[in-house]
Amino acid sequence: MTELFLGHFHLKAIGLGGIESCYILPEFQLAFDFGRCPEELIDISRVFLTHGHLDHASGLPYYFSQRSLKHLDSGEVYVPKQILEPLRQILELWHKIEDFSYTINLIPVEPGDKIEVRQNYYIRPLLAHHRICALGYVLVKETRKLKQEFLNLPGEKIRELKEKGERIFDIQETPLFCFSGDTTIEFVTQNPLVQKTEILLLECTYIDEKKPVEIARKWGHVHLDEIATYASCFQNKQLILTHFSKRYTPSQIEEFVKKKLPEELWAKTILLVRPFEKS
Ligand SMILES: [Zn+2]
Ligand SMILES: [Zn+2]
Repeated sequence: MTELFLGHFHLKAIGLGGIESCYILPEFQLAFDFGRCPEELIDISRVFLTHGHLDHASGLPYYFSQRSLKHLDSGEVYVPKQILEPLRQILELWHKIEDFSYTINLIPVEPGDKIEVRQNYYIRPLLAHHRICALGYVLVKETRKLKQEFLNLPGEKIRELKEKGERIFDIQETPLFCFSGDTTIEFVTQNPLVQKTEILLLECTYIDEKKPVEIARKWGHVHLDEIATYASCFQNKQLILTHFSKRYTPSQIEEFVKKKLPEELWAKTILLVRPFEKS
């Protein structure tokens, strides 16, 4: 896997459109999508699945089975609620095929849910727009701030109010890291949380006119031209583009992205291509 160090985030990634998608944040012990279950994923205890296409999901049975072989617990696998049942059936059939039973732990999620992954850090599922039901995920940090009207009260008074169960804090949510999964550009343009997230890991499957915007939209993907069109939406500190179609070489991708994105956006863009670096 490729490793990126982005401020306080460490990311291990495989992101090849139609082939394999798996992104790990080791410090948070969480990952997005299984890809074909790279070795590094097996020790990660929480995985959030965006959708059921096999480049994202095929490693799921292998993940549970390998964790069992390594005498680890089942881990927690969060999946879009619409595909929970078919996934459970697949896994049960696999138990039969293997004549071996291991614990599975599938947890259904949908937009509006909030999953705590560390104290004050949560994953929020967001609706993505793909050909099949799909979610993106954003990691947010919550901070509690004393409400304006209580700012000048002495500590003792505040303690008293707290004990009475008074709501004295405003909760502020900071989006830190977002993974789009497979989606059209609406995931960004219709979602202020995505636009503001510090690090945005966004799919960009097509980049040229041989596969124009209409084709990208038909297949539920983002085209580079749309990122250029909506450049002002990207208020992120860092934009990581991934899931490029295998029809493009790394140098073509770099050439096109550099040419098409406004300079300011290009300056904060990282390309996840082989060899996963700007030259
Ligand atoms: Zn995909
Ligand atoms: Zn897909």
